[in-house]
Amino acid sequence: MRPEIKEYNYDWLMGSVLSAASKLANGTQKEIELTYKYIPYFKGVLESFISDGEVGIQILKLFNQYYENILCAHDRGKKIAATTFCCSPSIFYAMDVVPVCAELLTTLGALVWKRGMFDYLDHCGQVGLPETSCSSQRGAMGAFFAGLSESIDFFVCDTPGICDTNANAFAFAASYLDKPYYQLNYPQTIGDDRSQKYHVDDYKEAIRFIEAQTGSKLDYDRLDEILLEVDKQDAIIADLEDMCMLKPSPFSPLYNIAIYAGRFSFCGTREYTKLLSVMLASCQKRATEGVSGLKCGKEKLRAYLFYIDHYTLNMNFWNWFDRHGVAHVGGMLSHHFRDTIGYTKALAGSSYGVDRSSPEHMLESIAQMNARLPMVRMIRGPYDGPSMWLEETLVLAKHFGAECLIYNGTPGCRNTWANVKLMARDLEKHGYPVHIMNDDAFDDRVESWEATRERLEEFFTVRGLL
Ligand code: SF4
Repeated sequence: MRPEIKEYNYDWLMGSVLSAASKLANGTQKEIELTYKYIPYFKGVLESFISDGEVGIQILKLFNQYYENILCAHDRGKKIAATTFCCSPSIFYAMDVVPVCAELLTTLGALVWKRGMFDYLDHCGQVGLPETSCSSQRGAMGAFFAGLSESIDFFVCDTPGICDTNANAFAFAASYLDKPYYQLNYPQTIGDDRSQKYHVDDYKEAIRFIEAQTGSKLDYDRLDEILLEVDKQDAIIADLEDMCMLKPSPFSPLYNIAIYAGRFSFCGTREYTKLLSVMLASCQKRATEGVSGLKCGKEKLRAYLFYIDHYTLNMNFWNWFDRHGVAHVGGMLSHHFRDTIGYTKALAGSSYGVDRSSPEHMLESIAQMNARLPMVRMIRGPYDGPSMWLEETLVLAKHFGAECLIYNGTPGCRNTWANVKLMARDLEKHGYPVHIMNDDAFDDRVESWEATRERLEEFFTVRGLL
């Protein structure tokens, strides 16, 4: 790692940028425009959020709050748990622990820093984590390993069998940093009685582990408050998802990332409910007026991202969609699979409910919610098995009226690269034009944004879509 990168704590760097960004958003339009002249490095990303109005500003505030929680955790007497995006943060909030989601921190760095997360990514290789592992963990973990983050107290993640590279990265990090570690061990199926019980037993063990780290018992009144908030959030997301079905969709491309990034960072907290409420109001207004959420004003095409998005600098990927009239109708990260949602009826075992009637039911609810998070839900078995990746993609693509399907991932993702061409072939047979992106969602050195953009343009042109 270059010495100049080691000069600053990564959490502090990001926290400072986001704190300034969220304050700037409170300024007048004239103040904002003038400030852009003095911050050319950050202008692109800030403009992308602030030009989205109140929703963009709320997202900046949410991320700022996330970093403030991390930076102040130890001063406030709280423990910090490193975790993954396929593990809901709700249980940590219920147990007064500050979650640090490695993938979210990597994503924010990739979107904000022109210099990229490259030094952090490479530092993982230098300390022994294979460079062929998923880059979504490696970015933030590079800062952990270099001692450039707030000190992690313990690790909680999932699971061999769902994603080996994800699970191994956390196992490596806990071992390298010599920290306590708990890994939820999901079985290969969900939805049947045996696996439901296995999930709950495993989850109870995770709670006992967290209790041992904090020295405090889980407070069921607090868990009840968190689940009540989850219930409210799920109802709002259900309304948002209904509106995403409309043509034109009132969603701005930013809304999908807002739904899932908010869920991975603040699920079950009032901060996330506030963000969702602002999004809902904005969507309802556009839906009533019958207008598209795209800034170009006209929806020409609807794309479903059947894996993850591309987190390249300055929100370039989403802005490209915006400019070309492509409505982003979500992806495997953004849809939530609450049992009240219509599309879950076609995907046996894929949904969860919330029952707050007793401590046992609350534990059951939070464990089952955890088991329906992205990847855990649909990449746990053969890609063409019941309710797995292929079936889920077909159901969601139809539900949201997608006209083309796009894959984007990371070269380290053996779970999807092993079968993505078979998947594309099957999806094409169902009539969908499919594009496989060759970049790394978090590392622009693998393929530059310019090359990625040209391949996207080639796809849309050759297939006669735009
Ligand atoms: S993107 Fe792929 S490699 Fe990375 S955590 Fe998800 S399944 Fe694993």
